[in-house]
Parts: sequence; C-alpha cells; structure tokens
Amino acid sequence: MTTRPAVLIVDAYSTKCSRCGKGTGIQDTHHTRLLSGWGTPDPRDKPCGQRFVAISTRRLGVTAEELRALRPDLPAYASGDLPAHLRST
Ligand SMILES: [Zn+2]
Repeated sequence: MTTRPAVLIVDAYSTKCSRCGKGTGIQDTHHTRLLSGWGTPDPRDKPCGQRFVAISTRRLGVTAEELRALRPDLPAYASGDLPAHLRST
C-alpha cells in the first residue's frame, strides 16, 4: 500500500489537506487538526496526520509566488502545476 502525499490546498476561505480532503491550518506542518474555515468540523472526523510536502491551490490566477509567500518552507505549485506524484487523483 502506498501512502499518498499530503499537499496543502489553499482555497478562497479555507485550506484543505489533499490526502484526506479535510480542512487544516495553513501554517501546520502535519495534518494534526481540523479547521473547516466555516462551521464546526464533524466530531467523528479525524485528520490523517500526514506531513505536508507541498502547497498548492485549485484556484486559477493564484501564482506559485503567492503560495510561497504563505509557506516559504514548502515547494509551491500553481493550479494545474502540481506534479503527478503529488496529485491525489
Ligand atoms: Zn489529511
């Protein structure tokens, strides 16, 4: 079984983990807490605990430079530029 990498996916109002699809904090190094942005997370939900290896977005028009400014410690990829091995689908 291969472990899918976790990538921070920055959205308009929230940040998600690409591995489990649940909300996370944009400054988090590992997916250890759930942040939904809006509303209360489902108490049955659990973060996957995976380390984030990159930052990306699904929003067109957001540049890698903007993402890099958010997380200078991670490789940043604009929408559609995420390398195949980091894609979740
Ligand atoms: Zn996760």
